[in-house]
Amino acid sequence: MNCHEREGIRWYSFENLDRLGVPHALVTRRGGVSPSPHASLNLGSTNGDKPANVEENRRRMYAAIGREPGSKFNSWQVHGTTMLFTDAPRDPQIPPQPGDGIFTQNPEVTLTMVFADCVPILIHDPVQKVAGLVHAGWGGTLHQVASVAVSRIAEQYGSHARDLVVGLGPSICGKCYEVGQEVYESFLRLWGDAGQAFFKPQGQRYLLDLWAANEYCLRQAGVEQIEQSGLCTAENLDDWYSYRKERGATGRFAAVIALKGDDA
Ligand SMILES: [Zn+2]
Repeated sequence: MNCHEREGIRWYSFENLDRLGVPHALVTRRGGVSPSPHASLNLGSTNGDKPANVEENRRRMYAAIGREPGSKFNSWQVHGTTMLFTDAPRDPQIPPQPGDGIFTQNPEVTLTMVFADCVPILIHDPVQKVAGLVHAGWGGTLHQVASVAVSRIAEQYGSHARDLVVGLGPSICGKCYEVGQEVYESFLRLWGDAGQAFFKPQGQRYLLDLWAANEYCLRQAGVEQIEQSGLCTAENLDDWYSYRKERGATGRFAAVIALKGDDA
């Protein structure tokens, strides 16, 4: 990954997307105004932080990465597999729709989602000119949200999996993410024997590797160009929020992607 810093805001970007000039960012928690436990660049609006703090953090974040706050399109992330396709920024008067994948062909739209352990999946189709962002926690991963995204953009935009350039962003790693027996059993039920590969027994519980599971879904769907951030949220609390490590009392960091202006 490449690391960037401007006016106290630090963000990372994928080498594969940078090579194509795709505007995108995984924005760390540094440089905002929120106090503990949301310190400091919290972009989540439903975790108890003051709306005025979140608003100022949002302003700083978009200013640092050079996008207009008014260009934002975001969704209400519900750990499902609904994909939303938009031609325009979200009207701030209308609440975000439920959806865990958001896509656009309009370079004036800045797709934005927030995270604290779940996997941000950034998607770019340089052929059909599509930008996309997917949210994959264990629930979304169980229902193969990454594969659903690939097949839905094929229907919607005619995208071919082999053309897609994908980045899996900072999230909780397979050494840190402990889950219960019920999660393990759900995967075996839906994935069959293939599910085994992503779990390691840990006492009465299991460690789940969301990075490998999502990469598997993408490869099964035909995606070849995949970059993993290798950055674990739970192990790097100076940069990222971790819902699990901070026991729910934490903020949300943003993942952002758009299309180059000349892609119009
Ligand atoms: Zn970890």
